[in-house]
Amino acid sequence: ISDEKKPDKWVFSTCGYCGVGCGLYIGVKDGRAVYTKGNPKHFVNKGTLCPKGLSEHQLINSKERVTTPLIKKDGNLVDASWDEVFKKVSNEFKRIAKESGEKAVGVISTGQLLTEEFYTLGKFVQLGLGTNNYDGNTTLCMASAVTGYKQSLGSDGPVGSYEDFELADTIFLVGANIADNHPILKLHIAKNKKKPNIIVIDPRASKTSQMATTYVPIKPRTDLALYNGLSYIIMEQGWEDEGYVKANTNGYKELKKHLQNYPPQEVSNITGIDVKTLYELARQFGAQDSVLTAWTMGVNQSFMGTDTVSAIINLHLLTGQIGREGAGPFSITGQCNAMGTRESGFTSSLPAYRNFGDEEAIKEYAKIVNVPDEIVPRERGYKYAEIIDAIDRGEIKALWIVATNPLVSFVNQNKLRKTLEKLDLLVVQDAFMSDTAEIADVVFSAATWGEKEGTYTNSERRCNRANKAVEPIGETKSDFDIIVEFSKYFEGVNELLFPKWEKPIDAFNEFKKLSEGQLCDYSGITYELLEEHGGIQWPCNKERPLGTKRLYSSDIAFRTKDKKANLLCVDWFPMAEPVSSEFPAILNTGRTVEQWHTRTKTRSIDILNNLAPEGWVDINPSDAKVLKVKSGERITISSARGKVEDVIVRVTQSVASGSIFVPFHFNTQLVNTLTNESFCPKSGEPNFKQTAIQLHSDEVP
Ligand code: SF4
Repeated sequence: ISDEKKPDKWVFSTCGYCGVGCGLYIGVKDGRAVYTKGNPKHFVNKGTLCPKGLSEHQLINSKERVTTPLIKKDGNLVDASWDEVFKKVSNEFKRIAKESGEKAVGVISTGQLLTEEFYTLGKFVQLGLGTNNYDGNTTLCMASAVTGYKQSLGSDGPVGSYEDFELADTIFLVGANIADNHPILKLHIAKNKKKPNIIVIDPRASKTSQMATTYVPIKPRTDLALYNGLSYIIMEQGWEDEGYVKANTNGYKELKKHLQNYPPQEVSNITGIDVKTLYELARQFGAQDSVLTAWTMGVNQSFMGTDTVSAIINLHLLTGQIGREGAGPFSITGQCNAMGTRESGFTSSLPAYRNFGDEEAIKEYAKIVNVPDEIVPRERGYKYAEIIDAIDRGEIKALWIVATNPLVSFVNQNKLRKTLEKLDLLVVQDAFMSDTAEIADVVFSAATWGEKEGTYTNSERRCNRANKAVEPIGETKSDFDIIVEFSKYFEGVNELLFPKWEKPIDAFNEFKKLSEGQLCDYSGITYELLEEHGGIQWPCNKERPLGTKRLYSSDIAFRTKDKKANLLCVDWFPMAEPVSSEFPAILNTGRTVEQWHTRTKTRSIDILNNLAPEGWVDINPSDAKVLKVKSGERITISSARGKVEDVIVRVTQSVASGSIFVPFHFNTQLVNTLTNESFCPKSGEPNFKQTAIQLHSDEVP
């Protein structure tokens, strides 16, 4: 860095993009963020960053920022004061609550805020607005892992540690393209001195398959049958850990009987994986000391997502591959603070993983936060997709969207746009002018990463410190400040919920109290310790002052009533939307390393856009031949719900004949126009990965 560009100071922080949670420093010169560099001492990344992390400072001054609150007048969004927008929205929320009930207000949030902000938002929505119809966009990416962990192990919470990638004998990467989506994780695998077997199971030979010792292509959406089939073989061959199963699990006999429906030849027919390979995959669990299974959206984004997670956990429970070094069923999270929203109570639980049905836990929650327990919701309200349905029916009349962009990320876009138009009031709180903000009635202009402080928790339960490096631009406020100030427009609410709250630490301290004694125990964590140690993995308390590397080792019991994990009988079903003569191919969607989600953050960062300027479609050479298209030419893709035109072709062997891949980031090639409304019935997660489609060369649209 030349002297004139040299930052005046470097501010310790954490990347605000993905769930890997890399430590970094933000370089500040003359009050502006001018550089980002990796923190060489941080355990997660040891100084390295991916292209998004390296250019992260640029998003602060992006031309896409919303710099002042906006209000719709005569069909246009115009500048407004904070008082004006808070009055407008609070008056509308109160009117709607009076006329249609408090639950007629819905809230959809994100995995991008800080934990302190999630906790504050959740408290305000649950106890102030009085609606339980709220959810995070995390339901679009990890809800199945959450519900899978809960039904098998008794609680949410990824079990492992990145260190396990360094210690495992065999690493299964299933439905996980970490090379694009969690690139820094590769470093931990590279550090593994055992030269582990790296087995990548995916219908698409993504970049991750290039690092595999064995790549196993599988027919789309047949993974649950595969994991059941592997459990069958493990039992048949006697590769279980009998002692572990007996001491730590329930349901062995029932599972053994159930798996008679999944003999190897049958599973081979379903999955397309030959029987010999099935035995070799199963043998890993029995023969190796330590087996790690890491998964992401390929497993979660399925109409069988929750049960597929449980089928993976079954394998680990049967073989005792859990709770020890290099082993475990490890769900990798997507967003920088997807974990924070899970823990702080903005998705399927109340704060600190308290269950809605647990009266004792609810009373304790009310007592700690000093509110009457009658106002705590006793049941979860609508999940994300159910909120959308309730808007469609006219039951939810106002929607507050925080830092997410459903008009690119949700399924069946044409229908969604019409549904959102039915609202009496759409409020969007965002740092960027997203596609959804463009149609809002009111926009709360939020500060972004680097302009505010708090904590993020990464995929391995590591709570990391994010510091404020620069002042929020224009008339933006941190999400914490927006919520606390907005609460003052509701009589008595600010005094009840946020007495003397001035800074995020006030939320953090209350959340810590709530977490004490829970699995996600933050009680031993302080901001100072986080900076000193480069993050701390919960549970962290007096007994574990430096945190905990992995859950369910001998001194951490499963969170079920009898402290035993559940071996669950789960079943595979054929595709939610089968191919047909009209729509004969299968669309798979995903991401690329250079872009972030719906590109609200990355679309104005030149270096990222130069690397990945638009959406594309991967097509197998044999399909390209039939279609008479070559790489670089453009085609149209259609499904029963709509079509996407002008998509540039990339002919590649990475997808099988009859399958295509399109990234979901781009509003210019809006692939969620095509996707269908099928959801995991337990988690509510959409089945993004399999949509029946037709391809058209652009001469014959
Ligand atoms: Fe940020 Fe994730 Fe890249 Fe690390 S891997 S720099 S956390 S986007």
